[in-house]
Amino acid sequence: MLLIEIVPDKCDFCGCCVGVCPEDAIELKEAEIKIIEDRCTNCSKCVWSCPIEVLKFNKEKAKEGKDDTK
Ligand code: SF4
Ligand code: SF4
Repeated sequence: MLLIEIVPDKCDFCGCCVGVCPEDAIELKEAEIKIIEDRCTNCSKCVWSCPIEVLKFNKEKAKEGKDDTK
């Protein structure tokens, strides 16, 4: 389950997040940024790397996910 969210229309495509992702899960093409769910481990390194808070870790979704496994 992908827990990282992208705030629409905020990204300035600086590429910082792409550089820190250990899974090569972020695609930056022309004017679009995308996280490849199958590769992402929700480690949050990209969230901390973004200088303008485009990427967010969805804590609520993370909690829901844990409840699903009960
Ligand atoms: S949460 Fe981690 S694995 Fe997922 S896109 Fe960000 S840096 Fe890559
Ligand atoms: S670090 Fe932030 S502003 Fe830069 S490309 Fe990634 S999401 Fe966009």
